[in-house]
Amino acid sequence: MSVDVRGKTIVVMGLGESGVAASEFLARRGARVIATDAKTEAELGRAREHLATLRALGVEIVLGGHPPELLRAAEAIVVSPGVPPTLAALEEARRAGVPIIGEVELAARFLKGTLIGVTGTNGKTTVTAWIGDLLARCGYCAHVGGNIGRALVRVIEEVHDARCCVVAELSSFQLETVETLHPRVAVVTNIAPDHLNRHGSLEAYIAAKRRIFRHQTEADWAVLNADDPTVRAMAEATRARVLFFSRQADARIERGVFLRGEEIVLRWEEQERVLAHRSDVPLRGLHNVENALAAIGAMLVGASLMDSRDEPEARPFALARALPVREALRAFPGVEHRLEWVARIEGVDYYNDSKATNVASTLVALEALDGPLVLILGGRDKGDDFTRLRPAVAERAAHVLVLGEAAEKIRVALEDVVPVTRCATLEEAVHAARRLARPGMAVVLSPACASFDMFENFEHRGRVFKEAVRRLAEESSAASREGGDRW
Ligand code: ADP
Repeated sequence: MSVDVRGKTIVVMGLGESGVAASEFLARRGARVIATDAKTEAELGRAREHLATLRALGVEIVLGGHPPELLRAAEAIVVSPGVPPTLAALEEARRAGVPIIGEVELAARFLKGTLIGVTGTNGKTTVTAWIGDLLARCGYCAHVGGNIGRALVRVIEEVHDARCCVVAELSSFQLETVETLHPRVAVVTNIAPDHLNRHGSLEAYIAAKRRIFRHQTEADWAVLNADDPTVRAMAEATRARVLFFSRQADARIERGVFLRGEEIVLRWEEQERVLAHRSDVPLRGLHNVENALAAIGAMLVGASLMDSRDEPEARPFALARALPVREALRAFPGVEHRLEWVARIEGVDYYNDSKATNVASTLVALEALDGPLVLILGGRDKGDDFTRLRPAVAERAAHVLVLGEAAEKIRVALEDVVPVTRCATLEEAVHAARRLARPGMAVVLSPACASFDMFENFEHRGRVFKEAVRRLAEESSAASREGGDRW
């Protein structure tokens, strides 16, 4: 698809956030847009809210399926990440020679800003948000988008030249369909054998992630996790200069950001500089120290590409002195639903970790929080082995509350190492947790399950939890005021 889309007939498949954004974007640029979705209007849920806006922009909407004749006749097709690439009608259009691209690729073709792309198995959202936050606090223009809830095409409309930076979270599904995407900085957080169902094998999954480097040149940067052997080996897969990050003081790295005892250090060949202390990392857990290292590294090389005040090669090192890195790091508020502190009620801290939709993420939370905890688990089972939680639960949890479809399976997996109580709703679990928790303990929703059995998505589950906790806080302060009146 050329950058001029005026008058072209373009089918956008899938009416989620990226499909809606792509349709609006193309319609505003004068394309004839037909948006299709397999769901009927009734099944669309919240996406229904956008239909009127799309229609007002002249977008034709076809629901209840993707008619093959429409796809065949299109001059280009933009597919959403949720649409299976193997769909028969899509195959047919591909054979008929219709160009098929993803929403991220569409954005890439129009992008004018300096692109920082972030991929990996875990920590993408946190690192993406953190890079954007650090850049902004250090005085740079930065916008965040991609897989992080705001489609990339929406962001690129706000960015008009390379002095502004676009930080994009890129999932492996999105990377599968990119062709021209050229991040000036490519960050890979870590690679765990995840998402294998869709990609078939670990090799295919790694190959999808590697596409982030495809168009990089010697003038660009790759920011890579030196502690993850698969990611470390990616240094060979890119033409870009490499800046590593590592939790280890003795990681053999020439240039990188690493943890040495309590210090966060930037090494630049022969030179070193202490940038901050571990206690400056405002989020809990060693995984978030790692995310901070990645974000600082990406911020420094990203800023150096946008800023031409110093000599070229060691510019990131010079910037580390000139910019308020430590203050910026301390100021990051974190990302909603990821070990998010909600409130302290009667000496008990409440955390919302609704994004923990698998056992691995819940283990990360248990590692990061000091026990004893009241842990809320459950939701839709994704086929995980809950017995993997046993050692950490035995060590950290005083009580486990279970809910949702997986409740029984979790109870059976854990009841001989910890007391387990079943709750019908999340609100009931919050009340039960309040009765069980003593001052100095923490209550954490880190479900190890998907949310779709009881909620629209993990964000909705997290909001319901926070609302219940806030009501508890109000009840508690009202009760203590009443208690106070008696004196
Ligand atoms: P993503 O966008 O890749 O899913 P998030 O930043 O949303 O990542 O974090 C999701 C979950 O992944 C967190 O709740 C935490 O359990 C886990 N996580 C985050 N960062 C890391 C990391 N650096 N290493 C391992 N696990 C992590």
